[in-house]
Amino acid sequence: MMSNQNKIPQATAKRLPLYYRFLNNLHIKGKSRVSSKELSEAMKVDSATIRRDFSYFGALGKKGYGYNVEYLLGFFRKTLDQDENTPVALIGVGNLGTAFLNYNFTKNNNTKIEVAFDADKRKVGKSIGDIEVHHIEDMEQNLGDISVAILTVPVSEAQNITDRLIKAGVTGILNFTPARITVPESVRVHHIDLAVELQSLVYFMKHYPLENEE
Ligand code: ATP
Repeated sequence: MMSNQNKIPQATAKRLPLYYRFLNNLHIKGKSRVSSKELSEAMKVDSATIRRDFSYFGALGKKGYGYNVEYLLGFFRKTLDQDENTPVALIGVGNLGTAFLNYNFTKNNNTKIEVAFDADKRKVGKSIGDIEVHHIEDMEQNLGDISVAILTVPVSEAQNITDRLIKAGVTGILNFTPARITVPESVRVHHIDLAVELQSLVYFMKHYPLENEE
């Protein structure tokens, strides 16, 4: 997806969509330049990190001027392939899956769930947020050339569904199940366990209170 990804460190690449969204909002508001300090305060990323990240993008901020919003947006669009649509499949239309279908990443205009699957016959044939739910048995026939999937099935089903997705040509999985799924090296998995994230937040609040907290 990213043409020059070899040059950009992974931690920087992960912040790209965040930068893109924020700068796009500035652009819509008619702002043509922005300082690293403004960006830092709004995005909660420290300004040294922003300056280092932006230097990888070939953007050099000028003192008293800041960064050129248009230039950065052009770079992000090209790098993130914003002009190209990435269709996504969602597997498991439970509580979380349903929320994703309704939300459907409306702020990110280039990634969109286009098809959904579930094993529950009562859900099959229904449309949620304009997306039709197909039976999981028919997944392979309805995936088309989709290469990205969101996994919101029960943990016990995660590996089996993953194996099928990979066989069908999926190479990127956003895994919302607590399962640590096994995939070949050529498949990228990003794992988001909301329960763990929440627990870790509470743990950090307790054991590593922030400086200005009493
Ligand atoms: P709900 O309250 O609708 O059951 P949930 O998120 O609490 O949602 P889970 O048990 O986590 O329920 O299941 C998530 C969804 O995955 C459900 O809609 C379920 O029907 C579906 N599901 C279960 N097994 C499979 C499978 N093998 N393939 C596809 N979908 C499945």
